[in-house]
Amino acid sequence: MSEYTLTVGLGERSYPIFIKDGIMETIGADLAKRNIASRYVVISDEYVAKLYGTTLMATLEQAGITVEMLTFPRGEASKNLQVFAELSSKLAQMGVDRSSGLIAFGGGVTGDLVGFLAATYMRGIPFVQIPTTLLAQVDSSVGGKTGVDIPEGKNLVGAFYQPKVVYIDTAVLTTLPVEELLGGVAEVIKYGVIRDYQFYCFLEKNLDAILALNPVVIQEMIRTCCKIKAEVVAEDEREADLRRILNFGHTIGHAVEAASDFSLIHGHAVAIGMVAALRLAVSSGLCKRKEAGRVATLIHSFGLPTEIPEGMDRERIKSYIKTDKKSIAGSVFYILPTTIGEVIITNELTEEQIDAVLQKK
Ligand code: NAD
Repeated sequence: MSEYTLTVGLGERSYPIFIKDGIMETIGADLAKRNIASRYVVISDEYVAKLYGTTLMATLEQAGITVEMLTFPRGEASKNLQVFAELSSKLAQMGVDRSSGLIAFGGGVTGDLVGFLAATYMRGIPFVQIPTTLLAQVDSSVGGKTGVDIPEGKNLVGAFYQPKVVYIDTAVLTTLPVEELLGGVAEVIKYGVIRDYQFYCFLEKNLDAILALNPVVIQEMIRTCCKIKAEVVAEDEREADLRRILNFGHTIGHAVEAASDFSLIHGHAVAIGMVAALRLAVSSGLCKRKEAGRVATLIHSFGLPTEIPEGMDRERIKSYIKTDKKSIAGSVFYILPTTIGEVIITNELTEEQIDAVLQKK
């Protein structure tokens, strides 16, 4: 059904990813053939539901699928146990049973929340991902990490739970605010730096086309990101080893995001974190200064930040780094590029190196 079809290879739990500009209208016909569930509940944030809910419900109903819709207020503040409990109750009141399926329709907040609901409701019911932000299309909808935030930290409660199918309609990106689009671009650049030099060059070459949302370039870009993520997840589903490379830029990025009290968009904080990681790679003698500078230039050219905001409390950032949830036995790990397209995972950095990167203006 699509120009681009990929598979996340996880044995019996393998699933396809369809990527196409304007795929939305054909989702119903494809889903009806898959025999995943006898009925579906689409769950979406209110904003996405307002923009695209009618179109999605029409394609599903026209294909003869029994479907209802639930919504919740948009934003990270909804990714919590209270909204999770409210949605669980609504599903129970609607008589949703083990033969039913959920459709996560929205950005990463929706995907994580609905995925976790699917993982736990009646001990697990099938779910489908229809991601609508660039970040969700290239990252969060693929790979099966689901969960919610608790006051003690982001994503601290969750499950690995894979969807049955992912439908990516690149046409919906046209309504995405530019700041959100750029947040996704940061994760896109990440894939090039950690794993694929050719793709990195593609991004440099197509910067203007990407920002103009050229459909051909955008589809190719999303396909490559999903392909890389699918390969990494197929090799290391539960982040025992290789999957950790996807955290490039996230050790310092998460700390900066937290120190901004989450006023910085995740991808923008990741952009800052990637530049910091590149500087650490240079100061460790792992990466040439010229290559690190080349990536920083690309990040900047897209309009993403490269420096920790002035006035942000450096000690606070350091304390968040130390409590990074990806640390193992108290040791903080960094993903550092050796060249564009290759990274290593290390915990052998000195306090002085970290200080130098945090202090840099
Ligand atoms: P989001 O879901 O809050 O979406 C951002 C905003 O864009 C929302 O206000 C939403 O209503 C709006 N929106 C969505 N689609 C739109 C469209 N097509 N047009 C216009 N507006 C649209 O945030 P996000 O950035 O997509 O995702 C962030 C979340 O993803 C975080 O909670 C993060 O922890 C999670 N995440 C998860 C993984 C994973 O592997 N599971 C990976 C990365 C991030």
